[in-house]
Amino acid sequence: MEKTRFDLDPKRMPDRWYNIAADLPKPPPPPLHPVTNEPLHPDDLRTLFADSLIEQELTMDRYVAIPGQVMDMYGMYRPSPLFRARRLEKALQTPARIYYKYEGVSPPGSHKTNTAIAQAYYNAQAGVKRLTTETGAGQWGCALSFACQLFDIECRVYMVRVSFQQKPYRKTMMETWGAKASPSPGLDTEVGRQALALDPDTPGSLGIAIAEAVEDAAAREDSKYALGSVLNHVLLHQTIIGEEALLQMELADDYPDVVIGCFGGGSNYAGLAFPFIRENIRNNKGTRCVAVEPAACPSLTCGNYEYDYGDTAKLTPLLKMFTLGYQFMPPGIHAGGLRYHGAAPLASFVHSLGLMEAKALPQNAVFAGAVMFTRNEGILPAPESAHAIQAAIDEALDAREKNEERVILFNLSGHGFFDLGAYQAYLAGELEDYFHK
Ligand SMILES: *Cc1c(COP(=O)(O)O)cnc(C)c1O
Repeated sequence: MEKTRFDLDPKRMPDRWYNIAADLPKPPPPPLHPVTNEPLHPDDLRTLFADSLIEQELTMDRYVAIPGQVMDMYGMYRPSPLFRARRLEKALQTPARIYYKYEGVSPPGSHKTNTAIAQAYYNAQAGVKRLTTETGAGQWGCALSFACQLFDIECRVYMVRVSFQQKPYRKTMMETWGAKASPSPGLDTEVGRQALALDPDTPGSLGIAIAEAVEDAAAREDSKYALGSVLNHVLLHQTIIGEEALLQMELADDYPDVVIGCFGGGSNYAGLAFPFIRENIRNNKGTRCVAVEPAACPSLTCGNYEYDYGDTAKLTPLLKMFTLGYQFMPPGIHAGGLRYHGAAPLASFVHSLGLMEAKALPQNAVFAGAVMFTRNEGILPAPESAHAIQAAIDEALDAREKNEERVILFNLSGHGFFDLGAYQAYLAGELEDYFHK
């Protein structure tokens, strides 16, 4: 029988994360203080983050060892499987070989668990008793709730009101893992009370939810704040994906010509792609790495590379990144996890150096790819992940046209079991495409 699944022996699971900053021709532009515009000092971050995470945020070391307890918790669902999509290849009648790394096997259902576990661990080590965060679509809130439960930390989630109403089961999931989740804006914070006074019916926004979580963490001695994407330490933790994939491609006796990931803040893309970019830089490999964003929120393909705020309230440091502007309000597309105005500074820097590619896709094409994938491979993908699927399908069709044996690897960042409303809308022909400008 032809092999379709490549499982890594758990004993061979990589035990270090990879920091691409060590292999770039110059250091990445530093974050700036939002008020003074001076490069940020580590002390500026201490009210919000544990020291070891600040150290990881700024380190230029090539590798960071994964602590034993984190390895143990990863062992609950890692190594994650690598599949060859043979049925999809057949359906596309392509000479290309398509592989995907499946991160939906983590209990909360996405790659976000990889950094949630690491962040909960380092905070527990630092004696932190409580973590606050925001969540848009709900995946990050679920991942952090699960991780906090593992390390006996209290978890408080501010969930953007509109998705709180659209996805009530996400709240149930977070509460089952012992977290407290409430709609944002809410009455528990000054930011929330002000937002509600301005507009009692506001749908909320990621910017407001971030501001609420930050206000909460800053006000309490026992609390810190956690972010699920964008920051260097988050991208670092996600590189476990690419490090495993390198070993699994070896098991498959193959090597990718192109590596693809969907791109919101940039963490799952970077997690898969950065170790392959290292191989390009250090070992003369020639893999093309492609980030795929929604046409409705295309920061890499339409944004400017400049210093900008991470949130609408201008509370975060200024980050040099590809951005549509901190006031940009993306339309309500169904890949909620990709509706961020900016892009991770480290991925932005890699892109500015010409070490990767980016493209944007509209949501109807993305759902068409998702449905084709589900009908052939069985897994029902998150709408975010489906951007990577459709881009992989485009590559496979291009390879067919050119009669090329292209090897394609993409990241299936999560499953879509909480996104069935979006599938229903697509199947009923009710999804609208949005294009930036
Ligand atoms: C959050 C999320 C994303 C987008 O975030 P990145 O930081 O860009 O990876 C993509 N896929 C899934 C399943 C998510 O939950």
